[in-house]
Amino acid sequence: MIDNFGREINYLRISVTDRCNLRCKYCMPAEGCGNLIPHREILTFEEIIRVAEAAASIGIHKLRLTGGEPLVRHSIVDLIAGLNAIDGIDEIDITTNGLLLEDMAHDLKQAGLCRVNISLDTFDPDKFREITRGGDLSRVLRGIEAAEREGLTPVKINCVALGGFNDDEFGRFIDLTRDRDITVRFIELMPIGSADVGEGYGFISDQDILKMHPELEPCDQERFSVSVDYHLPGAMGKVGFISALSHHFCSTCNKLRLTSDGKIKPCLHNNEEIDIKKALREGREEDVVKVLVESVNHKVARHRLNEGAEPIVRDMNKIGG
Ligand code: SAM
Ligand code: SF4
Repeated sequence: MIDNFGREINYLRISVTDRCNLRCKYCMPAEGCGNLIPHREILTFEEIIRVAEAAASIGIHKLRLTGGEPLVRHSIVDLIAGLNAIDGIDEIDITTNGLLLEDMAHDLKQAGLCRVNISLDTFDPDKFREITRGGDLSRVLRGIEAAEREGLTPVKINCVALGGFNDDEFGRFIDLTRDRDITVRFIELMPIGSADVGEGYGFISDQDILKMHPELEPCDQERFSVSVDYHLPGAMGKVGFISALSHHFCSTCNKLRLTSDGKIKPCLHNNEEIDIKKALREGREEDVVKVLVESVNHKVARHRLNEGAEPIVRDMNKIGG
């Protein structure tokens, strides 16, 4: 379906849970995901599949599962198999912290998963423990290798750029792309929800990273991608930049977001949410489609985070990125 600004909306991000086995500083407040969504409010697999079927009927053909941490949702492999059976859905991807991937990659692939994006901000085990409030880096690195082995490729690594934290490691991230089919994507820190990275760490723009690494050259852009892609000359992989703040990517935005408690977010960067759970629990299938069409029509031309828009209230672990 085409929105009011000529963008083809063909991609739905589905947050399947707000629960997580990490507590990343930029995503959650220090006390963690304290105010968890009650289980009865969380969409069942059957409800998520009905939303995806309705989405396919209006031209959405790509799905991404996210969270919280999508791999902690019980029987997630069954959900992927169910989504994979929907006519019109031709790509299912996942965004994960990678902790559980080593054991699950094979079954995820068999169920129909196409690709994984894995979040990783540092190669230093102590810094990893610090930014994730307790995570074990070695499990994520094994998860990345398992994803490559299973052909969940190209694996994309999402690195939130944090001045004073990982700016000394950007070169190492970029080097990963030399001889592996990996895309490293630097993400600008976004001011979302009640998370606070704390003293000493700061925003660093994608332009700053490009200045630090002039060896990167622009390369072919993926259609509709929010990332602007570069590569090292002769490298196998790519280096992408997701500049939500410094150069907003709104003109190529092709997505809707479904939260685990049944709200559609037309835009990540404003607070508007449209309830779809009532239609799922009390209405008919046409009502579910109607909510999706209304949501596409509510997409804004661009976000106004840099122009004094009201802060985003929902925490990132309840949106899914
Ligand atoms: N748990 C999964 C993971 O970490 O990949 C999926 C959910 S997480 C909310 C999705 C993405 O959002 C991750 O790549 C994470 O790094 C990113 N993210 C979370 N908070 C952010 C923030 N404040 N600014 C920029 N990216 C953020
Ligand atoms: Fe969990 Fe992902 Fe948020 Fe980290 S970024 S706390 S892994 S949901």
